[in-house]
Amino acid sequence: MQSNREKTSCSCGHTHPPHPSGERKDVPVVEIQGAKLAFNGVPVLRGVDLRIPAGEIVALIGPNGSGKTTLLRAMLGLQKLDAGSVQLFGQPVSGPGLGKVGYVPQRLPLERTFPLTVREFLALRLKETRFWFFQTKKHTTDLILAAIVDMGVEPLLDKPVASLSGGQLQRVLIAFSLLHQPKLLLLDEPTAGVDTPGEQSFYEMITRVQQQRHLTVVLVSHDLSMVYRHASWVYALNGVICCEGTPEQVMNAESLKQAYGIHVSPYHHHHHAH
Ligand code: ADP
Repeated sequence: MQSNREKTSCSCGHTHPPHPSGERKDVPVVEIQGAKLAFNGVPVLRGVDLRIPAGEIVALIGPNGSGKTTLLRAMLGLQKLDAGSVQLFGQPVSGPGLGKVGYVPQRLPLERTFPLTVREFLALRLKETRFWFFQTKKHTTDLILAAIVDMGVEPLLDKPVASLSGGQLQRVLIAFSLLHQPKLLLLDEPTAGVDTPGEQSFYEMITRVQQQRHLTVVLVSHDLSMVYRHASWVYALNGVICCEGTPEQVMNAESLKQAYGIHVSPYHHHHHAH
């Protein structure tokens, strides 16, 4: 996928400076400056800068414990920082910009006895959405149908939410978050536990939805092959942004080594996921 950004060459081996101001004049969807955070004295974010323009599919990659989920949570104002700032749509994260964000966490532990069907679960959002936007019933129903169709969850409507597979639940949760027509979608490891064909169709679906709805998507992923094929911009995180750029720029052996600290095979167009 093409990035809207000017292509910058990735000088791996160095912490990258924030994007030079003026690279893109629009207000960024997300802007993080100097994010620092330690848990019990152990630094997790050590000065993270990033700037995400509208209309991208941005991947956050990095080893376990490198702070990816923490950074997503900071983007939502769920995780307070020790230092630094987070802005959404040019405003502090606690502001109205949060209403334009959809978030699907990595795990949503559900009791097997969770009593709602997919249809009923989505209807919870229907009520809230109607109230929020004062929409006509027809318009709201259209919104729901569009989200259901976009995420391919129509065949699941009458199944109990608790009976869904991990991949099915992720798609329902994304449909749920699309109902309030977000501009920014944050996905934390959306395909964890999904097999390779499932992953491929999931990423195709997300790419289609992103384009049709003019969304900006930020996703955490361990699947470097999917990131290579579908992301427009990649941040490799390991406490700091070790490397950023297009997948072609970032996903080479040298920069992956910077992020992961070990040799990780780079991915190329002709490689297939295994
Ligand atoms: P990643 O998503 O890259 O795997 P996380 O952001 O989940 O990494 O976690 C980064 C580090 O911060 C981990 O070592 C994790 O144990 C720690 N951590 C995350 N949240 C908390 C918390 N609320 N309290 C204490 N430690 C935490």
